[in-house]
Amino acid sequence: MKKNEIVTVKIEDIGTAGEGIGRAEGMTLFIKDALPGDVVTAVVMKLKKTYGYARLLEILTPSPHRVIPKCLESRRCGGCQIQALAYEEQLLFKQSLVRNHLIRIGGFPADEVQKWMQPVIGMENPYHYRNKAQFPIGTDKDGNPVAGFYAGRTHTIIPIEKCYLGVSCNEEILDILLSFMRENDIRPYDEETGRGLVRHVLIRYGFTTKEIMVCIVINGETIPGQELLVEKLSAVSGMTSISVNINRKRTNVILGDTVKTIWGSDYIIDYIGDVKYRISPHSFYQVNPVQTVKLYQTALEYAGLTGNETVWDLYCGIGTISLFLAKKARMVYGVEIVPQAVADAKNNAKMNGINNAKFFVGKAEEVLPDFYDKRTVGEEEADMLHPDVIVVDPPRKGCEESLLSTMLEMSPERIVYVSCDSATLARDLKYLRAGGYEVRSVQPVDQFCHTVHTECVVGIQRKHI
Ligand code: SAH
Repeated sequence: MKKNEIVTVKIEDIGTAGEGIGRAEGMTLFIKDALPGDVVTAVVMKLKKTYGYARLLEILTPSPHRVIPKCLESRRCGGCQIQALAYEEQLLFKQSLVRNHLIRIGGFPADEVQKWMQPVIGMENPYHYRNKAQFPIGTDKDGNPVAGFYAGRTHTIIPIEKCYLGVSCNEEILDILLSFMRENDIRPYDEETGRGLVRHVLIRYGFTTKEIMVCIVINGETIPGQELLVEKLSAVSGMTSISVNINRKRTNVILGDTVKTIWGSDYIIDYIGDVKYRISPHSFYQVNPVQTVKLYQTALEYAGLTGNETVWDLYCGIGTISLFLAKKARMVYGVEIVPQAVADAKNNAKMNGINNAKFFVGKAEEVLPDFYDKRTVGEEEADMLHPDVIVVDPPRKGCEESLLSTMLEMSPERIVYVSCDSATLARDLKYLRAGGYEVRSVQPVDQFCHTVHTECVVGIQRKHI
């Protein structure tokens, strides 16, 4: 096989980035936008020893699971990778992705994994589920400001009028911002030169309360003539908080450290189940509120609380899971690295009249081991040293080994692992198993429909010897 050769491939599988995988001439080829069941022609772009990448040319025979994506830009946009796959098939794909990681990375026997794996909990209507959108602002070829999404793996902005994952107020807000920029000659930020003002706009929407937050990320201190912009944005039905975020760094991190509220409240309120949460621009909040209830309910069920338990909730964000658990536990201790999120968590507890949750700022892998090593002997500390349940909900990179080893020393009866990356989940479960724990149940929940991302809740139990 050579570069630029045109090959015919039957697609057998999906890769972790959503690309189709098939074999030709003894080589494994990764082909973006091809789906299992498709027979395609593709041109070879890049070759390694046993595998390579090819660009899709033509679908000769479409997969029986291929559907017409709602979004016309789904191939160019980096947001959805598998919109052309029928939704039920997306769920099966996610199920097998998790299963394979547990077997290959976790080293668990296939028949055991089969016993724990629950079918993925999907959505009835898998569109318009995102309560948060971050649009980059750039310039089109005629010099007009545009908002949209980055094309897959690049920083080229595709202007997108309508995103099927987002909520409808996004379009109205983008319209107002872009017209204001055009009329007042406010320049979008240019990544190449580091010049221009408006970098991103962050929009959050409370599904239950219908409150809207807009945060405009700028490479400066203020937006010239911003009163006019505020006047227009504040007229959008549900608008609750308008702020600017100052980010003057040459970086692709979206938010800078400073947020200034320029109209309304510093935060919006939303509910998950009957717990009320306050959300600021910097705080982490699950993006799919419909599925989050199912996710947290599963976590609660796996925690097996009766009202007497001491629980640690590590990576607690604004205390979302902590407060859900606090209603059924004796005491919950949350740990989170972002100070603002911890401030929100404390406020959220107060706002819900919850007195049995305490929060600590810091890295889970430092706070917990430090605390455990000190072993102060008060009555409360004794309970904290040996909790009944530990919940973890780390970012994609999973938990540090130093944290997992302290968790083992604390020897809780149950561990609940909420994961957004099944590869690191499998790695961490392997460690916990070696330390005397067994997996009882794995429940994937489709939080990110049409993308390759998969969320899981795992119930883990201490082995009694
Ligand atoms: N459980 C929360 C948040 C989960 S997201 C919820 O469901 O809403 C992961 C959280 O971990 C984020 O809030 C992030 O700020 C935090 N985080 C990242 N690294 C961390 C670390 N090393 N220690 C503690 N928290 C961390």
